[in-house]
Amino acid sequence: MKIRGAVLSSRGSEPPYVNSLPLAIEELELDAPGETEVLVRIEAAGICHSDLSVVDGSRERPLPMLLGHEAAGIVVGLGGPASSVEIGRRVVASFLPRCGVCSACRTGGRLPCIPGSAANTEGALLAGGRRLHLHGVPVAHHLGVSGFATHAVMDIRSVVPVGDDIPPDIAAVLGCAVLTGGGAVLNVGRPERGQTVAIVGLGGVGMAALLVAMSIEGITVVGVDSNPDKVARALALGATRSMTADEALEGGFSAAVVVECAGAARAFETAVCITAPGGRTVSIGLPAPTAEVRFSPLRLVAEAREIVGSYLGSAIPSRDIPFYESLWRAGRLPVEDLITSHIPLSEINRGLDALASGDVLRQIVEFPGVAA
Ligand SMILES: [Zn+2]
Ligand SMILES: [Zn+2]
Repeated sequence: MKIRGAVLSSRGSEPPYVNSLPLAIEELELDAPGETEVLVRIEAAGICHSDLSVVDGSRERPLPMLLGHEAAGIVVGLGGPASSVEIGRRVVASFLPRCGVCSACRTGGRLPCIPGSAANTEGALLAGGRRLHLHGVPVAHHLGVSGFATHAVMDIRSVVPVGDDIPPDIAAVLGCAVLTGGGAVLNVGRPERGQTVAIVGLGGVGMAALLVAMSIEGITVVGVDSNPDKVARALALGATRSMTADEALEGGFSAAVVVECAGAARAFETAVCITAPGGRTVSIGLPAPTAEVRFSPLRLVAEAREIVGSYLGSAIPSRDIPFYESLWRAGRLPVEDLITSHIPLSEINRGLDALASGDVLRQIVEFPGVAA
């Protein structure tokens, strides 16, 4: 079938992207879903820093690629007879498929699925190969999702069904920002009652981590960022306290659990510095592969610290997304506070500029009124 989607054909475009136009809205050919796959009519897709990292070249991915990895939509076609989702169901895309049987999948979410990661690196779906073509040339899938499009074929292990009452924009954000940020707090940081959790780096994922931390009773939640506007926004969202990185470092602030979401070496160092003795530093940002950090191994030993990395919040999407869905439904996880605007697909390059400026959290690309 013919679809419309945002395709990246070369990396390293210079901002402003509204002039260099790295993403072209193309008409592509989408194959029918394979045996383990579903056809999804995309309703909403969030623009995330990991999209920007592919555009600016800091994450190298095969090109051409149809971007977008945080999406929600309605299942409109099934590739196989035995499917865990039915036609008409709203699903959240999860950007790391879990095969469920490899050795990594048996670590309870701690390690990324081995064939899932390999497929993501290749720009293929979990069953292998590409379902997208542009002028006869295969186009890579972005993390098994490719959500900046009217439709997508995804592996059934890349989607999680949610209730019809979850609006599509909220559902989309559950799949990356909330799953990653929330998982870093709940699955890895695991704060105990009475402890302080600090979130370093208050972009979309960081703010999602902040909201999830706030949903835990008896926890003090502190936002930390180098940008004073983001510090103020964390307070507005309901953080107990919020401060700049310099204020945290100079003021001797410390927290039992510190989650670094910025993806920059400097932020990682700040996060380690402000972790209390005996505490845990969780890193989920994705810095450039060349980034290096300095910290004292003596402090690691003498202060019995833990420093732990986590991909996708060490989440098991089929378990964690329904949990966040129920928190949202109970009014304890105001995901709408993360959404700063809704834009049409045609404005996506402008959306990349807004994200790069740091002025927005989540911008949602909407696909209204597209017929199945
Ligand atoms: Zn993302
Ligand atoms: Zn696996």
